[in-house]
Amino acid sequence: MGRNHANIPIFLPQLACPHQCIFCNQNHISSQEHIPSIDETRQIIERNLATIPSDYTIQVAFFGGSFTGLPIETQESYLQVVQPFIKTKQVSSIRLSTRPDYITDEILAMLQKYNVQDIELGAQSTNDEILRLSGRGHNREAIQNASQKIKEYGFRLGLQMMIGLPGDTKEISLQTAQDIIDFGAETTRIYPTLVVSDTPLATLYNRGKYTPLSTEDAIDWTKDIYSLFIKNNITVLKVGLHPNKDFTNKEHLLAGPFHPSFKELVLSEIWKDKLKQVMQNNCKQKNISIFTSYEEINNAIGYNSKNKKELLQLYKNVFFNIDPILTGYEFTYCRY
Ligand code: SF4
Repeated sequence: MGRNHANIPIFLPQLACPHQCIFCNQNHISSQEHIPSIDETRQIIERNLATIPSDYTIQVAFFGGSFTGLPIETQESYLQVVQPFIKTKQVSSIRLSTRPDYITDEILAMLQKYNVQDIELGAQSTNDEILRLSGRGHNREAIQNASQKIKEYGFRLGLQMMIGLPGDTKEISLQTAQDIIDFGAETTRIYPTLVVSDTPLATLYNRGKYTPLSTEDAIDWTKDIYSLFIKNNITVLKVGLHPNKDFTNKEHLLAGPFHPSFKELVLSEIWKDKLKQVMQNNCKQKNISIFTSYEEINNAIGYNSKNKKELLQLYKNVFFNIDPILTGYEFTYCRY
């Protein structure tokens, strides 16, 4: 996904979802209880288009529920409303999120007709025991089969994962990440498990039967998972939930590793590991200049200049500069 990409999100909170995953209260997570009608969906698209620069690649994204669990006619009504915008090239395609067990040949053939390009599956874990404890209602095989079908039909596959679900360990989460790579995903999202009110997980937490990850552990696990994805050219679309007002006010968030800058904290740690080779020596008499790509310079400096401050313990002066030749996580440095 390029830098000039924008999604027009349409949230369909828990619409038609007969499941109750123990962590899920989609109403609180999307901070929206109302399900947009077809007319409102059109208005949301028009309103958003008016604010997005015309050189952006724009997708309409149906998030929040299990889109393909809706009756076929309802799915088609939502997809049809986007088609005029695709015809006029204001919108390039559609993306949607759903469950692995709601993928069939019939559904995929229908989605193909309506310019759906990306299908994201909430995999959450590929460990059968974690899936069972989380009340997901599907197993690892369902994720593998759905992934294979989605790719056979030529869609781009996204697989979302959660860390810190009941029974989860760092090793199990890393295996889930490896499976996401092996199942052929091109994109992923990593969500640390949070305890949201009015969920079965909240009940477990209140009874002392579930302990969420600490923020430090969540950062540590995510750092290694994120690094594995980068190494395998998987695009990480999101890390952690977006800070909506319910979470920042702690209205619905009971516990868990929520931080408004969670992704920045993870990327700072990834860069701290990378910069270890220049952090080893005490060079109090020397300066150091570190060169990174345009995209990564702030992450290299670190959240609240964390990495720069650490380097300043070792060097007289520390400079971070952009080198336009460098891409991704490449960096060079010179001491003088
Ligand atoms: S399937 Fe998705 S929408 Fe339904 S309860 Fe689970 S996480 Fe929530």
